[in-house]
Amino acid sequence: MSAIESDKIFPLLQELCALPGPTGQEEAVREWLRRRWAPRAAEWHEDAVGNLLCRIGGSGPRLLIQAHMDEIGFVVRYITSNGFLLLDTAQGPRRQSPDRRYMVGQVAQVVGRHGVVAEGVFGAATGHVLTPQQIDKAHIDYDDFFVDIGARSRAEAEQRGVHVGAGVIWSWPARRFGTRIAGKAMDDRALLAVMDLLLDELDPQALQYELWFAATIQEENGLHGARALAHQHRFDAMLALDVGLVGDVPTVQEKEYDARLGGGPTLVHKDSGVHYDKRLLWRLADTARAADVPFQHGVYANYGSDAIVFIDHGTPAVLVGVPCRYTHTAFEMIEESDIVATVALLKVFVTTPA
Ligand SMILES: [Zn+2]
Repeated sequence: MSAIESDKIFPLLQELCALPGPTGQEEAVREWLRRRWAPRAAEWHEDAVGNLLCRIGGSGPRLLIQAHMDEIGFVVRYITSNGFLLLDTAQGPRRQSPDRRYMVGQVAQVVGRHGVVAEGVFGAATGHVLTPQQIDKAHIDYDDFFVDIGARSRAEAEQRGVHVGAGVIWSWPARRFGTRIAGKAMDDRALLAVMDLLLDELDPQALQYELWFAATIQEENGLHGARALAHQHRFDAMLALDVGLVGDVPTVQEKEYDARLGGGPTLVHKDSGVHYDKRLLWRLADTARAADVPFQHGVYANYGSDAIVFIDHGTPAVLVGVPCRYTHTAFEMIEESDIVATVALLKVFVTTPA
């Protein structure tokens, strides 16, 4: 297994995770990737809905490796007369997901028409001013928290560029804890980092495929970017890269999720949406075994990936997960060695004849 210098991984993750990219507002991530990938790709396209697609090089079967640009977040649904921002989810049905338990106390960034327009805090009333009934309430829902950007009025918030429909994300700089790195938007920037590191490692002459990279929009909101891509382009095989689920924390049993940080990339057999392509999955497993790269098997619930829509369009596709604790929070945690192992697996896979 080739070793990527680990001093390269943390700064790369810090930079990628810091980019503001709530679902539907992926511009900053796209610009970053364009700067990084366009000079190293044989060709690149941005499609009409905002997906990035790059042909890296090589010839043979057309293989797509993909990760998504968007991160979990909220939208401003209402600005109160005294300047507080009330929220709704940026993905999925009204007032559901992400889990409201993890927001209060986080720093918030508001993403307006041209990028971040305000910072504030995800606030909630606290014990001194709540009634006993409010304190006893078991769940925090969308009427119990809000964003306080320090504005004194709706007009002041609007002057700063806040508007109904603006994106809201949590903001927490990626931090290193031992060999682990935690931060917001590891889902899916850690996997965009894997693709970026793979580009550094690859010798295009050695490719056994016509290799393409894609970075998609709105994965978190129903795989929309991937749908557009799968509709426009044909590939012979597709690997979706995303964060993987683990059972290695207190309160979750390993018997629920048989994967852990540090165990290597997870080859996912099934999630809530689909059974992934078995032939492709076992080829990845055999490649990993032959190259001595650690890997894990996974079965996920409450989970879907961009690979689903490629299967629906007739392309064999597999989900490769980098193990991640605390998914869909500001403190998503990954292990450096899993990044290294995933890059190593992909490198061997794309340079081994199909
Ligand atoms: Zn994801």
